[in-house]
Amino acid sequence: MRYGIDGDRLWARLMAIAQIGATPEGGSCRQALSDPDEAGRALFLDWCGARGYQLRKDRIGNLFLRRAGREAEASPVLIGSHLDTQPTGGRFDGVLGVLAGLEVLETLDDNAVETDRPIELCVWTNEEGCRFQPAMMGSGVACGVLEMETVLAARDHAGTTLAEEIARHGYDQEPGPSLAEAACYIELHIEQGPILEAAGKTIGVVTGGQGIRWYEISIIGEETHAGPVPMALRKDPVPVLMHVIGLVQAIGRTDEAARCTIGRIDLSPGAINVVPGQVAMTVDLRHPDEAVLDAMHRRLVEGLDVLRQRHPDIDLQGRMTWHSPVVTFDRGLIETVRASVRDRGLTFTDIVSGAGHDAFNLARRVPTTMIFVPCRDGISHNPREYAAPSDVAAGANVLLDLTLARSNM
Ligand SMILES: [Zn+2]
Repeated sequence: MRYGIDGDRLWARLMAIAQIGATPEGGSCRQALSDPDEAGRALFLDWCGARGYQLRKDRIGNLFLRRAGREAEASPVLIGSHLDTQPTGGRFDGVLGVLAGLEVLETLDDNAVETDRPIELCVWTNEEGCRFQPAMMGSGVACGVLEMETVLAARDHAGTTLAEEIARHGYDQEPGPSLAEAACYIELHIEQGPILEAAGKTIGVVTGGQGIRWYEISIIGEETHAGPVPMALRKDPVPVLMHVIGLVQAIGRTDEAARCTIGRIDLSPGAINVVPGQVAMTVDLRHPDEAVLDAMHRRLVEGLDVLRQRHPDIDLQGRMTWHSPVVTFDRGLIETVRASVRDRGLTFTDIVSGAGHDAFNLARRVPTTMIFVPCRDGISHNPREYAAPSDVAAGANVLLDLTLARSNM
């Protein structure tokens, strides 16, 4: 027997919760642990309340709603995502995974379906990381990737600490459930990129996440007047900057899956008539294969070495400031996603997540996978973010199939 979620109910709720923290451009602003974020959670819990699911919260404000299984002691199937948004957020990023999760629980209720395992709907605190850094905080703490004591000290722009906001909302009381014994974790999310739309596919079968490495590069020469000093006598860091840009762009052409981004270049002092003394720049390298990412890293390091030797009068330094390893999702779960989309006659393609997600933290602890649906023009973190109702419903139905399959084995 195949069940189907109520696409109209899901869509109506997506639109209703978007009214909380609504922005004039048609998006939502519910930054983590702010009053609008709390109000969004309250509305969500209102919807859950009628069904009698057991609610637990943990010390960082993650919410866990449990639909009981036949075997009370069996390890639960976890589903979920986040309700917080960017300051200029849209109506689907994160919210979709949570409300589709609720839709799954209610569809099982409405059809009087019992499962062996309990199903636990998770709402992760502060996925976005725009108000308090780092991002993916709630799932990071729950999975032991981040230390609670460290993140409590995080401050927002106004100087408010995370600890103060946690206490204000009363989350500091509760120990919360352990994730160690969970059976698996499944997250539905909009793609946040243009690949599915361009390919004309409804479902992205997410096989994992790119590895990410961040670098800061400084190129130091000598600041001098733009007029009197001949070109040959300058210690100008800009010609070296050009070579570094060329190097990074070449690394970006390693293969189709490689991503190289120079997101920031600061020239100092930044005046029209001054040869800059310093360049500070950032590089972001990504690849879904750790071995290839290693090779890209070596090309960058060796390329910088060569430039350093060629330009002895310029001080060229580079250092890696952060890295996130390649994430590989669970093969069995991925196969179950494929089986569901085939069974439902949906178009699909394999895809690697370009953005970070709570699922990346969960993947370190329990078998995990994600399901993507297209978003228009690949745009997210933007009020224009949009996913079609039919795609939203299709993604939620795949989440339902997967949850049902996993909660009965
Ligand atoms: Zn998200």
